[in-house]
Amino acid sequence: MRSTRGNESVNPSLAILRGLAPDGGLYVPETFPEFTLETITALAELPYEARALQILSKFLPDFTEDELKEAIHGAYGTGFDDARIAPLVKLDDATFSLELWHGPTLAFKDMALQLLPYLLTLSARKNGENREIFILVATSGDTGKAALEGFLDVPGTRCAVFYPKDGVSRAQRLQMVTTGGRNTHVIAVDGNFDDAQSGVKKIFGSQSFAETMNDQGRVLSSANSINFGRLVPQIVYYFSAYADLIRTEQIQPGEEVNFCVPTGNFGDILAADYARRAGLPVGRLICASNTNNVLTDFIQTGVYDISDRPFYKTVAPSMDILISSNLERLIFTLAGNDPGRTADLMHKLATERRYEIDELMLNRLQAVYACGYADEVALKAEIWKRWHDQHYLMDTHTAVASAVLREYVDRTGDTRKNVIVSTASPYKFGPAVLSGIGGLEVESMDDFECCVKLSALTGTKEPDVIKNLPGLPVRHDTVCAKDKMAETLIEILKK
Ligand SMILES: *Cc1c(COP(=O)(O)O)cnc(C)c1O
Repeated sequence: MRSTRGNESVNPSLAILRGLAPDGGLYVPETFPEFTLETITALAELPYEARALQILSKFLPDFTEDELKEAIHGAYGTGFDDARIAPLVKLDDATFSLELWHGPTLAFKDMALQLLPYLLTLSARKNGENREIFILVATSGDTGKAALEGFLDVPGTRCAVFYPKDGVSRAQRLQMVTTGGRNTHVIAVDGNFDDAQSGVKKIFGSQSFAETMNDQGRVLSSANSINFGRLVPQIVYYFSAYADLIRTEQIQPGEEVNFCVPTGNFGDILAADYARRAGLPVGRLICASNTNNVLTDFIQTGVYDISDRPFYKTVAPSMDILISSNLERLIFTLAGNDPGRTADLMHKLATERRYEIDELMLNRLQAVYACGYADEVALKAEIWKRWHDQHYLMDTHTAVASAVLREYVDRTGDTRKNVIVSTASPYKFGPAVLSGIGGLEVESMDDFECCVKLSALTGTKEPDVIKNLPGLPVRHDTVCAKDKMAETLIEILKK
């Protein structure tokens, strides 16, 4: 693998251990494995774990098959409420929903964060790193819980999550503070998400904190979505979806399929692109945004501009992002694998908050990617439509993709089969989903009441992890000032 901003070549395990390259770039494969149509077709007969093994062993050549097999089983063998792990549900003759939310925290982050701890500890071992891997996370809600669940009691790791004290929903807070395990820490920061995030960044940059940790036999690491170890598990489910389309005879082997992906940090959709480059017959990748539609403008015009752009808080909060960190990996490809060019554009973004790609790059981009966005009215109307037309209940993020896909098909007349990537359980965003299907008095109910009502109105099952949440014991109650995060962490580690 190599950095998007440099030429040094490293093994995947070192790329995963480091997360970010020392030059500030992101790690990308130097060459892509090639999966033949025969191999892809043969996946149809295999369960998810075996599919994952085939894909991952080609992308992670310095891991042995036994290592990967054990890691995959640790990640997906338990904790998912559907044996298919990433089931594909047919909505109509041309439209399918790839459900990525059957893991322990009911959102697609589990697909990667269940596997990452295994990949990280294996990577540490391979690179002679014997210290405990200490993961620090600042969260605006969902990533924190997914990281806690992923690292829970994984030997050789520890995970601390900082969240803004009044900046997460009651359900999100309860999900985090009720986490068990001997290696998890959850700390409320008296401040907003930016405070928590800058605090964590400061800790990562602190030499003295690193020394204190080293004296305790620990080394800091990050579970950010820029880590290749988060990206690579996501490539698997695109192959898996395609294999399921073959298995159920919805497509002929080799037939192109479109994927419509609700996008924030550009990690999920980039994994689809990597699957395409490894031989998966992909037609269009449709990038779906909410009102924070910087990517829609970029794909249409080649201009990425956040200099004068308001930030909207929406009911699809995991897509409320203006700087899509994984886009750098696509830019690198569009620039013909030119690290200087990539570094240049990223530098422009940091200093001028704007950059523009040239016509050749734009042509390459538009040859693969289509785009669109849906605001709150449109996404709630889409939840209503899917429920009334197909009796399919979608969360807000999935609904953004579904609305964008509908508009795309109308506009282009594209007749290929389409897969909507469904990223969260509707019960994770109960109030907005309930209001989408026409539930009344949503404002007067809390998250839990909305979920009970949603289940009663639709006859769908409320997941146990939500239902049981209010009754679980609170295990983490530390609150700290925003300028005392490092000190608080050191105190907690003494206990
Ligand atoms: C994180 C997330 C997304 C966005 O995925 P990216 O990889 O950041 O583009 C979409 N939906 C949900 C529910 C998420 O948690």
